[in-house]
Amino acid sequence: MKDQWTKILCGKLYTGLEDAFLERAEILIHDSRIEAVGRELPCPEHTKRIDLRHLTVTPGIIDAHMHPEYFDWRDVYADTIYNSDGYRTLATYCTAERALHGGVTTVRSMGWFRESYELDVKRAINEGHLPGARLIVAPHLLGTTGSHADMTQTVRTNPVLCDFMEKLYTGLGNGPDFFTAAVRREKKLGADFIKIMATGGFATPYDDPDDIQMNDAEFKAVFDTANELHLPVTAHAYGPRLMKKLMGFGITGIEHGSLMDEETAAMFEETGTYLVPTFGPFQEAIYPDPEQMAKKSPEFQRKLGIYQERMQKGREIIVKSHIRMGYGTDFVAVYQNYETGMEFRCMMESGMDAFRILKAATKTNAEICGVDSITGTIEPGKYADIAGWGRNLLTDKDALRDCAFVMKEGVVYEPKSYLGEQ
Ligand SMILES: [Zn+2]
Repeated sequence: MKDQWTKILCGKLYTGLEDAFLERAEILIHDSRIEAVGRELPCPEHTKRIDLRHLTVTPGIIDAHMHPEYFDWRDVYADTIYNSDGYRTLATYCTAERALHGGVTTVRSMGWFRESYELDVKRAINEGHLPGARLIVAPHLLGTTGSHADMTQTVRTNPVLCDFMEKLYTGLGNGPDFFTAAVRREKKLGADFIKIMATGGFATPYDDPDDIQMNDAEFKAVFDTANELHLPVTAHAYGPRLMKKLMGFGITGIEHGSLMDEETAAMFEETGTYLVPTFGPFQEAIYPDPEQMAKKSPEFQRKLGIYQERMQKGREIIVKSHIRMGYGTDFVAVYQNYETGMEFRCMMESGMDAFRILKAATKTNAEICGVDSITGTIEPGKYADIAGWGRNLLTDKDALRDCAFVMKEGVVYEPKSYLGEQ
């Protein structure tokens, strides 16, 4: 693009900078960047006008917790055995493309058990060969044997197969030396951040969400090495015991935090640690929905049953807190991974203020992803990453599922509604 000027006329505009809408604002764009925001902006004669006065305009949405490695959530468990690395890579690209059409211009990809060549997908998109959301990548999930990072537990009845598969999971190992090397390898490959699986999970069959699955020497190896290499670390964690320990190590952010208690929430607030709470995958447990629940694996259902009460309490604490909150979906069941707007619905249902959610999905997520110098707000100098919505963002829970306009780096893409997916 060379010397292309565009002016977007907005109905309402949420810039990400304050909890308010600007009425009838204009955004002036020069090539890929925002030049000015205001009213009746002077512009060159041949400026192209895009009339969005029927829409509410926001920064391009950022999903800070996505697993893009499969085409359909029903494939997730089969993926362990049946999918090749090539097929998984194609799925990763397809998800980035679908997300973009839904108004999502940046996706933080949380890493996968095996290779999905996300860094290749990121590169192809960044070089302009393929349209898709900008990817922020942790290539592998780092964790220990038998942990939530170890999907070989699904074939544990066949230990020979289990051991063989474990060798294919390059993020899986034990002891501080392994984790020092693993963080260095992630850095070498081009990781944007480090993701550790520090507690058990719900989707893995044979571990417990309150377990701590790495020891202190292993944690120390991860944090020392990542600090030296200037890589932020985030961890999958549910229980307060582990979250407090991780904050003691100076972790940048934590994913889920679903079993939050008051004391831990206060520690988040004091330390300024980010939380990406991923309400979506647990919505059926918080607001019991037997039909949706039945779609999850038996182990997932069993564990949600055990932790339901603590999760409901944890949800209330998170909503009431002043934690620096991000926005991420983590859909591996029930909803498709690119249905980023579903989290908006889940957060609204939990009583979260709409502006708080919008800030999480834009400005705060840009900080979490380390891209706040280029995106996340609508202000001069940032990329023209812009989305438009026909529904009322303050009252309509489905507003972010129904994209009406999307632009990434000054280029307009076809918007798509993801209402009625699944
Ligand atoms: Zn996840």
